[in-house]
Amino acid sequence: MNSTTPSVTVIGLGPMGQAMAGAFLDRGYDVTVWNRTAARADALVARGAVLAPSVKEALAANELVVLSLTDYDAVYAALGPAEGALDGRVLVNLSSDTPEKARAAARWAAERGAVQLTGGVTVPPSGIGQAESSTFYSGPRDVFDRHRPALEVITGRTDHRGEDPGLAALMYQIGMVMFWTSMLSYWQAIALADANGLKAADVLPHAVETAHSLPGFFAFYAERVDAGRHTGDVDRLAMGTASVEHVLHTHADAGVDTALPAAVVELFRRGMDAGHAADSFSSLVELLKKPAA
Ligand code: NDP
Repeated sequence: MNSTTPSVTVIGLGPMGQAMAGAFLDRGYDVTVWNRTAARADALVARGAVLAPSVKEALAANELVVLSLTDYDAVYAALGPAEGALDGRVLVNLSSDTPEKARAAARWAAERGAVQLTGGVTVPPSGIGQAESSTFYSGPRDVFDRHRPALEVITGRTDHRGEDPGLAALMYQIGMVMFWTSMLSYWQAIALADANGLKAADVLPHAVETAHSLPGFFAFYAERVDAGRHTGDVDRLAMGTASVEHVLHTHADAGVDTALPAAVVELFRRGMDAGHAADSFSSLVELLKKPAA
């Protein structure tokens, strides 16, 4: 091992961890890996990675340790048996979970002499190692700056949000609530298309065009929402409610599952009941917000 060669440990070899270890190998890093199911390291070992026989030895091999585990319970399950080896380690924790769990894990690591940088990767495995891909980080800024070259191997763009270890997890979850509900709306649209003899490919251009229209709406409403301005000069909740009811009835008529469109109608009706009929449908955000103490 050449002392000038950068090195890293990657713990967790699901699709993401494998892609990360592969990206480090591509950039000439000495890579030590560990995974609960050792066979998942085979392809990486064939490319030059070292499979540590235990998590303790994986931690001992390098100061910089990337964690890519299913969630934080898996982090404790993987690292707990070797917690004595955590002293002096920098844990780049790219396992997803809640901001509160990220904060608790940062405290747990600190009590054992390690530092956690929380990360939230915004791309699937195919985006790992790509210059245009991006990851949110939070935790100690000096540690982030010192390890930035390695972090930029994982994704070319890095966005440090602040010292609070929960912030990166928060940004990740903000993206995920949009991702999962948007993708669910896509499955819903495909189910409706299917009931009418259309394939996903038949509606793809329309779906893409609809998705492309959304950033314009996001930008238009962001300023108004932040100003608490929900005037019905462009759209009215009463119009929106009629529209989402058409959506619900279209699905019911076609015999397609209505759970999602019915939930949408229910939220719009709550806005109507709260007296927002003449306001913009952006007024729904006030219903969704945490109630004032
Ligand atoms: P997987 O869940 O497929 O794999 C994660 C790893 O966690 C595996 O190596 C698995 O080991 C390990 N693991 C799970 N439970 C335990 C445990 N109790 N003890 C020890 N090891 C455990 O996840 P991905 O690789 O897909 O993703 C990793 C993280 O990245 C997740 O938090 C995910 O939410 C996030 N992410 C994923 C994206 C994606 O597109 N896949 C995109 C962005 C973020 P074993 O192999 O033995 O099962």
